Amino acid sequence: MRDQVEALAELVSGARGLVAFTGAGVSTESGIPDFRSPGGVWDRFDPNEFTFQNFMASEAGRRRYWELGRQTFPVIRRAEPNPAHHALVTLWRTNRLDCVITQNIDNLHQRAGLPPERVVELHGNATQARCLSCEKPYAREHIQARLEDGVAVPLCDPPCGGIIKPRTIMFGEAMPRREMEEAERRARAADLFLVVGSSLVVYPAAYMPLHAKQAGARLAIVNLSETPHDHAADLVIRGSAAAVLAAVIERLQARPVSP
Ligand code: NAD
Repeated sequence: MRDQVEALAELVSGARGLVAFTGAGVSTESGIPDFRSPGGVWDRFDPNEFTFQNFMASEAGRRRYWELGRQTFPVIRRAEPNPAHHALVTLWRTNRLDCVITQNIDNLHQRAGLPPERVVELHGNATQARCLSCEKPYAREHIQARLEDGVAVPLCDPPCGGIIKPRTIMFGEAMPRREMEEAERRARAADLFLVVGSSLVVYPAAYMPLHAKQAGARLAIVNLSETPHDHAADLVIRGSAAAVLAAVIERLQARPVSP
């Protein structure tokens, strides 16, 4: 592991355009379970039920969705950024990181200190919501208070009364066009593409490492379990995101500054 950390520090130190790509695994050490590890959300809920189509189709579908949301939002609300999030901020502050492309919806990269324009969110953000009729924005926190007061399906303020939806991309919902284009453009411009904590099985997000690789970037993957793109990577580290990224920062800080 020490040699691998050294190898990653070497790649990062030589990079001129580093793009990080994060998934749920970067936030498990903040106490937010991922989807696919044992004990994850989908061990307890059936993902087929929580689709965009079911949310839009009926009040019953929205009621089920908000019941899940009422239970899961407090986990996101109380989570704090962990050393992996902080390490990425350090890379940005030291001009080593272009941006983070994330599949996460937990807002932890921004809370750790990355400017919002440096975080490309492919699956939206669970701390915000909006009315689908009039576009009025709502803090998810505000919606949570209504849910906890016993409202089963929150609606937009009168006179609108429209359907309120979290700003997350649900299963079956179209990907956000601007973010997808920006992510692909930045992935293709990267000379080092660093995957952290993603199973790389959720498409189209999982195309990003391939776009980067095809355009000539080195590919490094830090993940606890195997991914289908490991064979394409220049470096694979099976380890904890927080431990590995913090150790990389330590190595970089111990080095003389490169010109
Ligand atoms: P995933 O659940 O499919 O995979 C997570 C990966 O991270 C796994 O391969 C696991 O081995 C690895 N992992 C877990 N803990 C780790 C750690 N401490 N260090 C290193 N690796 C670790 O997640 P995904 O690839 O992001 O895709 C699933 C979808 O889940 C995404 O679309 C995302 O929107 C959503 N999601 C987000 C959050 C969040 O915002 N925190 C949480 C759960 C799910």
